Amino acid sequence: MVSSSAPAPSSTAPLDAAALRADFSILGQRVNGERLVYLDSGATSQKPQAVIDAEVDFLTRANSAVHRGAHTLAAEATELFEDARATVAGFVGARPEQLVWTSGATAGLNLVAYAIGNASLGRGAPASARFALQPGDEIVITETEHHANLIPWQELAARTGAVLRHIPVNDDGTLDTDAAATLVGERTRIVAFTHVSNVLGIVNPVAELVALAHDVGAVTVLDACQSAPHLPLDLPALGVDLAVFSGHKMLGPYGVGGLYGRADVLEALPPFLTGGSMITTVTLDEAAYLPPPQRFEAGTQPVSQAIGLAAAVRYLDGVGMGAVHGHEKALEARMGEGLRSIPGVRLLGDAPGAERVGLWAFDVDGVHAHDVGQFLDARGVAVRVGHHCAQPLHRRFGLTASVRASSSLYNTADDVDVFLDALSGVRAFFG
Ligand code: PLP
Repeated sequence: MVSSSAPAPSSTAPLDAAALRADFSILGQRVNGERLVYLDSGATSQKPQAVIDAEVDFLTRANSAVHRGAHTLAAEATELFEDARATVAGFVGARPEQLVWTSGATAGLNLVAYAIGNASLGRGAPASARFALQPGDEIVITETEHHANLIPWQELAARTGAVLRHIPVNDDGTLDTDAAATLVGERTRIVAFTHVSNVLGIVNPVAELVALAHDVGAVTVLDACQSAPHLPLDLPALGVDLAVFSGHKMLGPYGVGGLYGRADVLEALPPFLTGGSMITTVTLDEAAYLPPPQRFEAGTQPVSQAIGLAAAVRYLDGVGMGAVHGHEKALEARMGEGLRSIPGVRLLGDAPGAERVGLWAFDVDGVHAHDVGQFLDARGVAVRVGHHCAQPLHRRFGLTASVRASSSLYNTADDVDVFLDALSGVRAFFG
């Protein structure tokens, strides 16, 4: 078996971030002569040694093509790959056959949008007709979406004649659920929304949106990229039909992610990519497809990355997602309080009492976000600057860019304090 140095399971014990940092050697380095304070986990997380070891172990000991070979290594690789599927599916409360490997959340969302597009062209089993879009049907998203959960729906609307509508965001960053209740109607066929905005950090009311969508028979698609690394996540319990998440944001490798689907939804959905590994029989005229999840896994899969992602979720489970969430909430509260006290800093999505993850985006009056980022970098603090792939949301708040500080389980209160201390000097420096 692949080795793992994940901590022993404990979901309630408080998290000792200072001790966990020993598993992330990258965090021990100095940047620009200063201790590295990594507050860019919303873009990509660091990977614990257990994840790196799992990939290296697979590649040095068991690397082989899965699902095909008759030899010993192929059998072992297949077993490790399918064990990884079961582990990652279990992490989100799902069964193995409900988890499709993808190369990331963007790929998962495109897969869904193109599969629905294929259903709209009459492709797939008779059951696929339930997804077929007609001109005038409606796809509802939110104003807070990452471009990955926006552009695939724009494209699908353009291909099918469907209309794209959006749930607006309130000034405090919460979704306008009253508007949602009137927007989701008889013509709504898809409701796609993020669990947690990568700019606002607010946990959206999934149950409420799922209830609205299901009342009118619409399919729900959840972008769980910014929740899976930070909250206990049970996708079947949330009631969503489809959901995506991204390995590299949850301590896992690049190039791997998951698409979760309710069994009946995945079974009825036609494939997007076609080719090897997703068929039963092929003639020169036609092909018959495997059931899910293989139907959606054409071509060579990210095998070592999937095994690395399984090590990542074992690590997260070992720490305990309840403990991760509790720790990051404390960091978020400390950061929010500190940011509010710095003159000229405007927080995006500062809704009192909102459930949040450890992420704040903000604007500094009179200083461009890129200048803020460089100023902080010179002091060893890594944050994200720009539109964070959410241009419409920035426009909504009258901005083209913001600064985002996002934490993970390995951040400490000291990281937050170093960041706040550095930021408090930014306006004087540029003023
Ligand atoms: N959705 C959200 C909310 C994100 O934050 C991101 C990444 O920034 C994505 C989608 C895209 O994820 P991936 O990098 O796996 O394609």
